[in-house]
Amino acid sequence: MASGEAFVVEGKLRVPYDNWYGTLASAFFRELRDHGKIRGIRCPACEKVYMPPRSVCPRCLGTLSVWVDLPPTGTLQTFTVVHYDYGQYYQPMKPPYLLGIIRLDGADTGLCHLLGECHLLGEVEQQELAPGLRVEARFREDRKGNILDIVYFRPIR
Ligand SMILES: [Zn+2]
Repeated sequence: MASGEAFVVEGKLRVPYDNWYGTLASAFFRELRDHGKIRGIRCPACEKVYMPPRSVCPRCLGTLSVWVDLPPTGTLQTFTVVHYDYGQYYQPMKPPYLLGIIRLDGADTGLCHLLGECHLLGEVEQQELAPGLRVEARFREDRKGNILDIVYFRPIR
């Protein structure tokens, strides 16, 4: 190395932080934590229900403020198997695991979340995993106020 070249040393940092959810997400996560309920938000103009909630309707640009209680059940829209391991601090579980897009009953959008009790965990046959599979949320008992208060979605049997 020439004396003028940059000298690079690899390192790792683990940085604690506080995440401010904002008014809308605070209301969503408070309800999830305190009551184990999932809420969406409806556009008063076009009637679309968004879950996860958002403040502006992307279809008509209306302001969203009408909360809607949603059941913990829905339909699997699609899924993938995560094999890549990018570290215990950045992933909810050790690969391989399943991620799905779940459209809760009464919602018009999908939520990306873990799929549990599936073939990779030894309880569900692989052929059960297909778009259209009916699933339900399994909630944590000691909820913290984040999306992992829903441990995962599992097939309804
Ligand atoms: Zn709208």
